[in-house]
Amino acid sequence: MRARHPWIFSGAVAREPEAEPGAIVDVIGHDGEFLARGTYNPDSQIRVRVFTFEQEPIDAAFLTRRLTEARRWRRALLPENTDCFRVCFSEGDSLPGLIVDEYAGYAVIQILTAGAEALRGPIVDAVTAAIGPRGIYERSESAFRADEGLEKRHGVLAGEEPPPELAVTENGMRLIADIAHGQKTGLFLDQRDARKLAYKIADGRTVLNAFSYSGGFGAAAMIGGATRVVNVDSSARALELGRRTYEANGLAVDDADFLDADVFDFLREDGDAFGFVILDPPAFAKSQAGVSRALRGYKEIIMQGLRRLEPGGFLMAFSCSGHVDTALFQKSFSARRSTCAARRRSCCASATRSTIR
Ligand code: SAH
Repeated sequence: MRARHPWIFSGAVAREPEAEPGAIVDVIGHDGEFLARGTYNPDSQIRVRVFTFEQEPIDAAFLTRRLTEARRWRRALLPENTDCFRVCFSEGDSLPGLIVDEYAGYAVIQILTAGAEALRGPIVDAVTAAIGPRGIYERSESAFRADEGLEKRHGVLAGEEPPPELAVTENGMRLIADIAHGQKTGLFLDQRDARKLAYKIADGRTVLNAFSYSGGFGAAAMIGGATRVVNVDSSARALELGRRTYEANGLAVDDADFLDADVFDFLREDGDAFGFVILDPPAFAKSQAGVSRALRGYKEIIMQGLRRLEPGGFLMAFSCSGHVDTALFQKSFSARRSTCAARRRSCCASATRSTIR
């Protein structure tokens, strides 16, 4: 606590309060000194999630101050011409259990803990005050809520409902977000920097955008001067969003460039090689038990991706498996590079960039 870690685990508690899940409690040291204030959950191993190290009320005014601060930091770092970004990331912004994303004036929020749930009313007031959104939409659908004893929740909390296909702007590029039913809160906002890199790399190259979802990488590559981009996804809705994203950027849509296929099968075919391959799969490991299987999956697509890469090409690969750390993920690359060298393929000289998001 004194080092300002925001969690108290059950084993560190000498005396529990008689309080309901989600109640606001004070953390008192063995010497009776006030240490922190946060939300309590007797059913979680994380008994207290700290909101503040001061003796101050945790109310709408407090939440508004924290959210306003978080948003100001984000906006200071945000590239020009960008109106979609994560405003608040739970403990990372000292607001445990609350995630707030902004999409062209709409707020999309996730309430993930019993503590944040108990603050639902003040949270809505604070999001309204700090962002002044056209509407607040809730996507509290994480499996994590069940661990906190909460049901999933989904729908409009205040103001207008966002349109089913909301056009937002990232680095000057248009992206189409499906706030109500899309993946995450509508888009993969965390890939902003990678999409910019793809824009830069794509010039004059043919591109494979594997696991394309709403086509953000594909559109970035096209705008960046790619000669052709093949988007591959196994979801018809994802491909439709991809076509909408192209249209929103004034790019010509050729249905042959939006393939409804399993990426594993597609890569194994002996089709054309590409000058730039992007592999951004869903999380292959959802738990620690799934890690070795996930690593085999990453190796498989990276190996096949390199096989489909032209000499001198670029390959970008990503993992969003929280249980696969950077070092483990990068092993998927290094092992395959030596395989390529052994086969004397020039792809071993290609620049590889791996990113954990
Ligand atoms: N690159 C995207 C995000 C990808 S999310 C972006 O920047 O927005 C992962 C996508 O992979 C989802 O759209 C999902 O439909 C798709 N997918 C999952 N398994 C697949 C498979 N085996 N073959 C093809 N697509 C798959």
